[in-house]
Amino acid sequence: MKNRYECYISIGSNMGDKEATIRKAIKMLAASDKIQLESVSSFYETPPWGKTDQPLFFNGALRVSTELEPMELLRVCQDIEQQLGRDRHTHWGPRTIDLDLLYIDGVEMDTPELTLPHKHMLDRAFVLVPLSEIAPGLRIKGKFIGEYLMRTRDKDDMLLIKRIRQRK
Ligand code: AMP
Repeated sequence: MKNRYECYISIGSNMGDKEATIRKAIKMLAASDKIQLESVSSFYETPPWGKTDQPLFFNGALRVSTELEPMELLRVCQDIEQQLGRDRHTHWGPRTIDLDLLYIDGVEMDTPELTLPHKHMLDRAFVLVPLSEIAPGLRIKGKFIGEYLMRTRDKDDMLLIKRIRQRK
């Protein structure tokens, strides 16, 4: 029997109709018969990280269950990014859509193409806030998400993070 994986994915956009693009990407993920969408966080409007002279981002987090191997899931996410017109030219620059694999239960790996848990997830409030909403009990490397959140550098920007509730 194939393994099933519980996966947490972050999703973000800061170009065009950000909310519509994020919703479209989620629909595309859920349309795969090998991926079951289990949970979607609220969306948050957040200040840009790294390169700060660019529009605000929309960020959210998802939980999916899948029989795809981690690299296969990454390919599906990259395919969706391509289809929605992701431009990869500028590092930390504006992006139509960004899908990152954050954490896959029971999987640790570090290859040039895929690092799990995601290298930067534990120090970014814009990742941890939506993630903590859908996975309050999740522990990574022995600590709860909330413990990492307290130590993030951008937690002071949290005032700028506006929660946008999910439509039913
Ligand atoms: P970005 O432009 O920030 O979306 O980064 C994409 C690059 O990071 C791709 O070349 C991926 O192969 C690589 N990468 C490494 N680890 C991960 C991960 N956990 N999730 C998504 N992309 C990853």
